[in-house]
Amino acid sequence: MSSIPKIVILGAGYGGVLTSLRLQKELNYNEADVTLVNKHDYHYITTHLHMPAAGTDNPENARVNISKLIDEFKIDFVKSTVVQIRPQDRKVILEDGTLSYDYLIIGLGGEPETFGIPGLAEHAMNIRSINSVRLIREHIEYQFARYKREPHRTDYLTFIVGGAGFTGIEFIGELADRIPELCKQFDVDPSLVKIINIEAAPTALPGFDPELVEYAMQVLQKKGVTFRIGTAVKECTPDGVVVGEGEEIKSQTVIWTGGVRGNRLIEEAGFETMRGRVKVDEFLRAPGHENVYILGDNSLVFNPDGGRPYPPTAQIAMQQGVNCAHNLVASIRNQPLKGFVFQNKGSVASLGKGEAIGLAFGKKYKGRTAAWLKKLIDLRYLFIIGGIPLVLRKGKFL
Ligand code: FAD
Ligand code: NAD
Repeated sequence: MSSIPKIVILGAGYGGVLTSLRLQKELNYNEADVTLVNKHDYHYITTHLHMPAAGTDNPENARVNISKLIDEFKIDFVKSTVVQIRPQDRKVILEDGTLSYDYLIIGLGGEPETFGIPGLAEHAMNIRSINSVRLIREHIEYQFARYKREPHRTDYLTFIVGGAGFTGIEFIGELADRIPELCKQFDVDPSLVKIINIEAAPTALPGFDPELVEYAMQVLQKKGVTFRIGTAVKECTPDGVVVGEGEEIKSQTVIWTGGVRGNRLIEEAGFETMRGRVKVDEFLRAPGHENVYILGDNSLVFNPDGGRPYPPTAQIAMQQGVNCAHNLVASIRNQPLKGFVFQNKGSVASLGKGEAIGLAFGKKYKGRTAAWLKKLIDLRYLFIIGGIPLVLRKGKFL
């Protein structure tokens, strides 16, 4: 190792940004060389993406320039795409160069999990990034325009959402709010539009509080959403989806929100993975690689009580970022590392304008109170990463 250790952080998502911000605060001048790599020059607020996807907000409001977050005197930002990770050589290959490291932090985020279902990768869209939600938003509007030219094609007005986890539920809440506006804009009879949410498990939001799930379904059904619960998507075609025992539902719009897996670059690098995620040690390091930390959607951290892994969330990714930065500084200073302990503060899911459900601090919330809680969580995040100036600039849009 050279006299100044090189720290390379891959991905400016929740885990990568929190690690960077903490490092720039805690490291002394000339203690380490820190480089942050991200494929865009902006950080996107994933927790807000369901809104621009449905068109109830502008994608601009869900992103922040990385230069507004980090201090470029302390952290080198490299806008590039990682194409390969080579732990055996301590190198990362970018689309336009190579970086060597002493410590590597992988926070590249997850990928949509298709479970090998035929046609999903080719024909369905996903809510994953600014570019993916731009596509969904434009695609939905285009279907209304197409219908006006071919009024017998009611499949243009059928919108299928596969998976009723938090992402699917938050998206259909927004989409249901957007439909009346689109019907007005395109002179379309609202009764012709269908939003169908298909869920394989016996309930929407499997594992969440049943009373709140019931409330969410009632709110969404009132807004016009049809649920097909206990029905699995088996195939996706250019004409719609095949579900259950072979029933075909015709649609030109399939949004897949059936879950996430880890990033393929991690499997390709030779780390041992489960659905692309690495079961990290208590300090968030990849087993057998004391200088590689894995955060967020690419890591698996097991709940010490139940033995099940924690779900991949922004909440855990942020806490991991803080812990990882602490351990990097400790390693450099030859101090003891701190084990990661997840503090679950709860979950709140939006159901569209002014409606949400949530479990937080051991209490249940629904309706407007839950919607306010969601807003507070979003504002808190802006404050953590960008202080009052970012809250003032972006907060009004959340
Ligand atoms: P990400 O935040 O996904 O960031 C990964 C970063 O890596 C991105 O900047 C990406 O551009 C970059 N990148 C990827 N590949 C490359 C590459 N090859 N080269 C260079 N850069 C690359 N969780 C909550 O706790 N609360 C919520 O309310 C919530 N709402 C959500 C709503 C939606 C619609 C979605 C989809 C998810 C939501 N989540 C929520 C989950 C949460 O967003 C993720 O768990 C979280 O973003 C994971 O953080 P991360 O740091 O692992 O990666
Ligand atoms: P998820 O894994 O939580 O939900 C996916 C859903 O798709 C599940 O209910 C699953 O049963 C269903 N499904 C899987 N295969 C199917 C099939 N063939 N047919 C029909 N349904 C199928 O994924 P997600 O909703 O994208 O969430 C990903 C992570 O992000 C989770 O950890 C979640 O908690 C988090 N998240 C949190 C929030 C929030 O806190 N507000 C919002 C969005 C996402």
